[in-house]
Amino acid sequence: MMDKTGMEADLLRNGEAPEDLWIIVLSHCILNRATRWWQRGKPLDDSRGMASQILELLSGLQIGVIQMPCPEFTFCGNPRPPRTMDEYLSLPGFRDHCARLADETAEYLKSLIENAREPRIRILAILGVERSPTCCVEYAPVGDGAEKRYERRRGIFIDLLVKSLRDRGIEVPVIGVDLNRPEESASMILDLISRHKP
Ligand code: SF4
Repeated sequence: MMDKTGMEADLLRNGEAPEDLWIIVLSHCILNRATRWWQRGKPLDDSRGMASQILELLSGLQIGVIQMPCPEFTFCGNPRPPRTMDEYLSLPGFRDHCARLADETAEYLKSLIENAREPRIRILAILGVERSPTCCVEYAPVGDGAEKRYERRRGIFIDLLVKSLRDRGIEVPVIGVDLNRPEESASMILDLISRHKP
């Protein structure tokens, strides 16, 4: 005789297979501008974030949102100065902090995928923040002081996250948004969604 749990599982499996559920994974400050670097003299409006554009776009398309931790804020807080990648890497413990957060985030995303037997959860993309030494995808500030310049490379946390996910067999598109151009970034995300989500 089938036990209650077995019957429930059988009932839940009846009918058509449900559609996959899609989620997008965001760098923290895309939704919460309060964690961006700030020090006296910096106008608060310089850190706009793009919460309204993202939430409007994704809720309309029924795409879930995961907000990753902010490595810089959880390590340095505010006020803090703007730093390049080299300057952050010279802070004792910062890279290890990013590595720990990257592993925790990768493990969490893996558990979401594995526990979602039905309906399945699919990750559409991870969105980083261009020009951030920690969360950029393509434009990283390097050097220091007057020698500051941009190089085409991933930020400290995003790079470690991509590697952590790969170690767990997860490959996801990673793209960078420009918080100074929220509307442009929103249309880039829409384009990505229309290309990848059935
Ligand atoms: S770009 Fe990354 S590290 Fe910088 S404020 Fe945003 S979430 Fe934090």
